[in-house]
Amino acid sequence: MRLSQSLIPTLKETPAEAQIASHRLMLRAGLVRQMASGIYAWLPAGYRVLAKIANIVREEQDAAGAQEMLMPTIQSADLWRESGRYDAYGKEMLRITDRHERELLFGPTNEEMITAIVRDSVKSYRELPQMLYHIQWKFRDEVRPRFGVLRGREFLMKDAYSFDLDKAGAVVAYKKMMLAYMRTFQRIGITAIPMRADTGQIGGDLSHEFHVLAPTGESGVFYDAAFEAGDAFASSDIEAFYEQMTTTYAATDEKHDTEAWEKIPAERRREGRGIEVGQIFYFGRKYSETMNFAVVGPDGTRIFPEMGSYGIGVSRLVGAIIEARHDEAGIIWPDAVAPFRAAILNLRQGDAATDKICEELHAKLGADCLYDDREERAGQKFAEADLMGHPWQIIVGPRGAASGQVELKRRATGERWELPVADALAKVLG
Ligand code: ATP
Ligand code: MG
Repeated sequence: MRLSQSLIPTLKETPAEAQIASHRLMLRAGLVRQMASGIYAWLPAGYRVLAKIANIVREEQDAAGAQEMLMPTIQSADLWRESGRYDAYGKEMLRITDRHERELLFGPTNEEMITAIVRDSVKSYRELPQMLYHIQWKFRDEVRPRFGVLRGREFLMKDAYSFDLDKAGAVVAYKKMMLAYMRTFQRIGITAIPMRADTGQIGGDLSHEFHVLAPTGESGVFYDAAFEAGDAFASSDIEAFYEQMTTTYAATDEKHDTEAWEKIPAERRREGRGIEVGQIFYFGRKYSETMNFAVVGPDGTRIFPEMGSYGIGVSRLVGAIIEARHDEAGIIWPDAVAPFRAAILNLRQGDAATDKICEELHAKLGADCLYDDREERAGQKFAEADLMGHPWQIIVGPRGAASGQVELKRRATGERWELPVADALAKVLG
């Protein structure tokens, strides 16, 4: 993509409304713009990040055996009356009346809708288990939308739902999802720690929240240093993995257990703040019973399925990643979710040798690179590339170009190499 022809409206000044780094940087790097309180438009570069995250989430959900579908954003109030949550949900729910005076709402979550859909077509125990998910916009009329996309009103969520015949089956689904989540965060390139959590609005008795560590996080978190190792969850055996995840101490302040905490050697105790990027719940028959969804069991009796739900804040993740990975100069994207894998910085637009190398690199790197072909000072190109946080910068100036050399910079470490064009390409693509 050519920067001269792109809508990536970077800002030099720090926007006054942004209190934390990720919000400032998302505005300054031209990723999003606020359209109304807590409601954002995703501009081309920001949308590329959102789409890459959604894709990793999707691949790992598919690998866990979940089936992708798409439910609407608008739901009927009657559906929520069946579970009793229409009145319970309160002011966070955006309630809408259509021209026929029918009551609708913009979905804050989908337990009721998915239960109604599965109830409509699953009649026998033979058709269970089922695991379904979608990646769809949600609306919650938060009292205080803030921190940009971290606490928006409209936000993108992956929500999955499992239906099993018995509790043992539901717990298997829960474990599979926990593994899928850890793989997802690992692929994205961040550390997220599963913490025992309260079940809140959704209800139920087993729940974990996944927190990305960042000083600006809204929750206090306590965890064993073992989670910092990254390979703490390397096990591919699901039972061993789950055992490890749930016996290694990690809890939000709401669930913190000082007695258990004190048993951990002092040098391994870590306290900090976390951003919740996902939560998983096992809540049994809460919705199947209230919404009267039963299947016929092997002996002809009615069985109310055991359910769980599993959310990931796809749009919140964009902000959380930036909170965890930035410096004075700007964003430091992990390779897997950067809007562009590499930027090509042409330091002398119009110089024949420089232009030729840049065009060649642009052609070879394809759509996943951003070619800064503008008539701007080198200093501005450097500053904007650092701000946008491309994992690689390929810097092409007239002096090197004359002998076929370019400079390669790794954003995360600041390392630089002088290399022939082909070697730089190999490193970026490698
Ligand atoms: P929070 O405690 O932060 O308000 P929640 O526990 O109410 O979130 P869940 O119902 O668990 O949220 O939703 C699943 C995921 O959706 C959360 O883990 C979070 O990543 C994301 N999410 C929830 N509310 C918002 C929001 N207002 N803006 C952006 N993402 C959100
Ligand atoms: Mg939650």
